[in-house]
Amino acid sequence: MVDLDKIISLCKRRGFIFQGSEQYGGLQGTWDYGPLGVELKNNVKKAWWKSMVYEREDMEGLDSSILLNSLILKYSGHQDTFSDPMCDCRKCKKRFRADQVDPNEKCSEGGLHDLTEPRPFNLMFKTSYGPVASEDSIAYLRPETAQGIFVNFKNVLDSTNRKLPFGIAQIGKSFRNEITPRNFIFRVREFEQMEVEYFVMPGEDEKVYEEWIKERVAWYVKYGIKPENLKTLAQKPEELAHYSKATTDILYRFFPDREGDKQFDEVEGIANRRDFDLTCHNKGGKLVLPDGTEVPNQHAVNKMTYFDHVSNSHVIPYVVEPSAGVDRAFLAFLMDSYEEETVNDSTRTVLKLHPALAPIKVAVLPLKKNKPEIVEFALSIKKDLMKTSGMRTVYDDTAGIGKLYRRQDEVGTPFCITVDFDTLENSTVTVRNRDTMEQERVSADALRAYFSDKIETL
Ligand SMILES: [Zn+2]
Repeated sequence: MVDLDKIISLCKRRGFIFQGSEQYGGLQGTWDYGPLGVELKNNVKKAWWKSMVYEREDMEGLDSSILLNSLILKYSGHQDTFSDPMCDCRKCKKRFRADQVDPNEKCSEGGLHDLTEPRPFNLMFKTSYGPVASEDSIAYLRPETAQGIFVNFKNVLDSTNRKLPFGIAQIGKSFRNEITPRNFIFRVREFEQMEVEYFVMPGEDEKVYEEWIKERVAWYVKYGIKPENLKTLAQKPEELAHYSKATTDILYRFFPDREGDKQFDEVEGIANRRDFDLTCHNKGGKLVLPDGTEVPNQHAVNKMTYFDHVSNSHVIPYVVEPSAGVDRAFLAFLMDSYEEETVNDSTRTVLKLHPALAPIKVAVLPLKKNKPEIVEFALSIKKDLMKTSGMRTVYDDTAGIGKLYRRQDEVGTPFCITVDFDTLENSTVTVRNRDTMEQERVSADALRAYFSDKIETL
């Protein structure tokens, strides 16, 4: 299996991902998605939205704001508890996560590090809004998209007349001031999430939780991840966050060069959060901190309850949360599709991406670029496909046909069309399949139907 270094080099060379702020030496923990990266990332998000929102009967979408009133994060518990333990070295002044620092590591100032006791370091990005910076103008960049969903529970419920169970889905950026961002786009400070909060009657949560684990694993497999590269891991009771009744992580083999279970790390987590979040934000509700301290909510303006006609009572729903990282899913799809094959004594690098996820669906290549009729015909196919099918189609005449095929293989384009001299005679073109490298002759008029059969529309 491909290792991370090869993927990083492909990403830079072909324009999937660049270091953020590279022109000025970079900004650690940020990455910019290039021309192909933005297409693949959009497709991952569209595939998720299609499966989670459009293909189910019980889901609504949401796009809530990134800047949050600090009260949301006070009552969610993030202000008090969203931190990692960190230590400082008194000699070299470097900062480490207490659970990651190696006490036998050599200090750059000589000897071993001289570490302070661990202290909590809050991971939220704080900012101020409005023209005057003061205590009252503090806002946070959201550390998760979930809070925007919880505080809008009542708005969505009232505006859609949903009955339990139902879910709210959201995709968007989140921000965490990680002490040590690392492993490419795996641990970063600005990232994107795809989250569902699924609201159920208390008592139905355990069954729904199990169903979501199955559904989410199946989603990765549907879009091309090999089952042997995925694992689920139920967190042990002593590892659970204090609000969680149960959590299962979906792990992907991000680090094939490591040993055993260390090869796998989290791409998504599914949590049974009970009624913790809606109780926190409920008018007259309360936040319960990990040590049992209760913080009464004195600011919320609405009840976060649901009227159950069966029991004739107001209840606070339970929540099951499948929470996936867009960037991590992107990386998993990229790694899993990467193959090197020997073809005619040379190495062919090919991304066998699911066609729906591929950044470019079709490349149109003229056999001869100095033949105006051929070029014109090729360009008209490109234009027509792009316009009528919505499939990302490109035209390329900057190399010989063999080289052009390999370029498209390397970025996962499922189909190439070649326009040649026969095309001018009978209006047919050659369509080449990325995976089999087989070619077939197709009438130019039939191309749209040909591809719509083979490429799922997201
Ligand atoms: Zn040191």
